[in-house]
Amino acid sequence: MDALLDGEAPTGFSAMRPPGHHAEAERAMGFCLFATVSVAARHAIDVRGAERVFIFDWDVHHGNGTHAIFHSSPDVLFASIHQWPFYPGTGALGDAGSGAGEGYTINLPVPRGSGEDEWLALVEHVVVPAARAYRPDLILVSAGFDAHRDDPLAECNLEAVSFAHMALHVRLLADELGVPAGAVLEGGYDLEALAASAAATMTALAAGGAPRSVEPGPLATAVTEQVGRYWPAVRA
Ligand SMILES: [Zn+2]
Repeated sequence: MDALLDGEAPTGFSAMRPPGHHAEAERAMGFCLFATVSVAARHAIDVRGAERVFIFDWDVHHGNGTHAIFHSSPDVLFASIHQWPFYPGTGALGDAGSGAGEGYTINLPVPRGSGEDEWLALVEHVVVPAARAYRPDLILVSAGFDAHRDDPLAECNLEAVSFAHMALHVRLLADELGVPAGAVLEGGYDLEALAASAAATMTALAAGGAPRSVEPGPLATAVTEQVGRYWPAVRA
């Protein structure tokens, strides 16, 4: 986090295990001991003076820990794409945060079997426009790779290159906003798929380039009204 905020590099990847996004402030859960991406965000805000942090959670499971920790805070925009219905059971589309944080949580559930077209449509047409409007000082990615088609714990159909396209979207947005982007390893339980997807993500994040563009399709279109309530750019 400090290396990124000191400008040592425009992007970074923390290949730490265990993952962190299921851990809540006072409770370990779902293989996760510490809420690593939340700690990174809080450090950026409390110690380094960041005002707005965007966390994009592309792990196939809902990041309930990150979600809970920042549920009522506008300091963090949390967007998650996750298989639904699925563990841990949180992350309904209609849960947009609470109190001062209402609107700063974007939950994007996808049915089992969803693949690259569906995921990239949500990234391109929902996640990126909302994040751009939020104008974060920093972008963090909860980079789980269990949405890969070979993952034994989940039932989505991404390939290693699908994660590279999502990473290119993140890099493009970071460059456009002139802010750093860092990814933290979350889940991923087929070791070959995990290695290939993490390597593809690191390469894409570091090199940048044009991501594949897709039509919105039914899934992204279906969430436009809900998310557009708080983020009109998503309707455009
Ligand atoms: Zn996961």
